[in-house]
Amino acid sequence: MLRILLVEDDDDIRAGLSRALTNQGVTVAAVARGADALGRLAEFAPDAVILDLGLPDLDGSDVLAMIRSLGQVPVLVATARDDEREIVRLLDAGADDYLVKPYSAAQVLARVRAVLRRGGPGAEKESATVTVADLVIDPQGREVELAGERIVLTRKEFDLLLYLARRVGEVVSKHDLLADVWNLPWGGGDRTVDVHVSWLRRKLGETAAEPRFLHSVRGVGLKMVDPT
Ligand code: CA
Repeated sequence: MLRILLVEDDDDIRAGLSRALTNQGVTVAAVARGADALGRLAEFAPDAVILDLGLPDLDGSDVLAMIRSLGQVPVLVATARDDEREIVRLLDAGADDYLVKPYSAAQVLARVRAVLRRGGPGAEKESATVTVADLVIDPQGREVELAGERIVLTRKEFDLLLYLARRVGEVVSKHDLLADVWNLPWGGGDRTVDVHVSWLRRKLGETAAEPRFLHSVRGVGLKMVDPT
């Protein structure tokens, strides 16, 4: 049975959503404060966390950082504002997806299931190591080695690299990257992709002018190439 930890200070939303999710067969633990969330996380061991960003005691992004420091449980942040910059910042900070209020239990469940399909323990095939020439990506340990040397990537850099490495030789549009790696709709967020690609290139020891793995396809997007 699916276990969800709901962190929401609004009594009505918390009670309503808890009831609706319970009716859908989900085991719910609900807390009103960020500080309580961290305690419950360890003892309840949820499959996913729904985290309201506007909490009275702690800033939502600080709670997210604390949850992340404890492990890889999927976190869906809930925000009252459909603010793309804020959402991008939180996804970069380790959120797996986001919900814009008001949201229904059905929507929460659909998003949680999608997140679990993408990266959850059920995703057997998804855990296989991906190798492209001297680049070795371990999805399970979220580790990357280049020519035998470990390279340290942020969460989104890792997701981006893995996504591209699973599609070697395929041209991937920025639109697809934004949708599949960031879960964001198209709309001005393409700078996000560009910035992450340039960071990733730097860590892979290459540049846009002299690419090895990551080749830009003008006007379309990006292609990962096996350089050997
Ligand atoms: Ca709130």
